[in-house]
Amino acid sequence: MLHRRWFAGKPMENSDVRKSVKSCGAIALAFSVLWSGPTFAWGDDGHEVIALIARSRLDPVALQQVDAMLSADPDSLTAHNIADAATWADRFRDSDREGARQNTRQWHFVDLEITAPDLDRACFGHPSLPAGTLASNGPARDCVVDKIDEFAAELASPATDPSERVVALKFLLHLVGDLHQPLHASDDHDQGGNKKRASAQGLKVGTLHHFWDTDFVDQLGPDPKRIAAMLDARISAADARTWARGTPSDWALESFKVAKDDAYGQLPTPNARGSYRLPDSYIAMATRDVASQLSKAGVRLAFMLNRALK
Ligand SMILES: [Zn+2]
Repeated sequence: MLHRRWFAGKPMENSDVRKSVKSCGAIALAFSVLWSGPTFAWGDDGHEVIALIARSRLDPVALQQVDAMLSADPDSLTAHNIADAATWADRFRDSDREGARQNTRQWHFVDLEITAPDLDRACFGHPSLPAGTLASNGPARDCVVDKIDEFAAELASPATDPSERVVALKFLLHLVGDLHQPLHASDDHDQGGNKKRASAQGLKVGTLHHFWDTDFVDQLGPDPKRIAAMLDARISAADARTWARGTPSDWALESFKVAKDDAYGQLPTPNARGSYRLPDSYIAMATRDVASQLSKAGVRLAFMLNRALK
């Protein structure tokens, strides 16, 4: 599983290049031209939607701190607002394809096997951080659940060095989102759907993983701001209270259930070449699931930030 999600995803498209130029400057432009790389986890739009839902639910004190930390951040991989910063962890990993930043690669998911889910195993036995080690320097073999807990603790502690604290914030903005992508909390010996080919009417052929990262988000609309506003308006106070309960482990198991029941569970029989033709009913179900997962992720991200920054 070492190279999972490495080859999956779509080549960078023109709109992505424009976005990169706008938000990341010349280095990102050079990078995007040289390497048309894959996307991992929710595409940028999904992460932006989650961050924007969270932003609308931040307490004034937390909001002020998030904005101040991001605006003072000297890093140039993303623009310094919450929506763009939520995509930073992918940029960070991908800006250093052969180097130390690849140590963060497995922090974006938790491989719960569909037939035998085992959170402890999928989290490599939950390695503890050696005393004095920053979460951003932690062991490469760790899972998204543990890293969310570690970065939340760093964000909450006034003793954390300011440069690590903003890194913790940016990882948190991203990883809470990744945890809610069902195929980031599940595996069917197929690299989280990356080895399954799928197609659907009117959509580009791709991996099942990519459909869940990007295509089903696109079904909600072209503009992350509008998607966030639409989903946010639909979240009842009772839902928000219910969703904010629990821990990242609980939320991982909930994502896993969506994957087991729907993402994998509702797949049609594959064709002779092993490829899945997704019917309209699957797309409709998946789009509903994605709307729900983005909404829950936004509420829970706000919950974690409000708690850490009160
Ligand atoms: Zn990610």
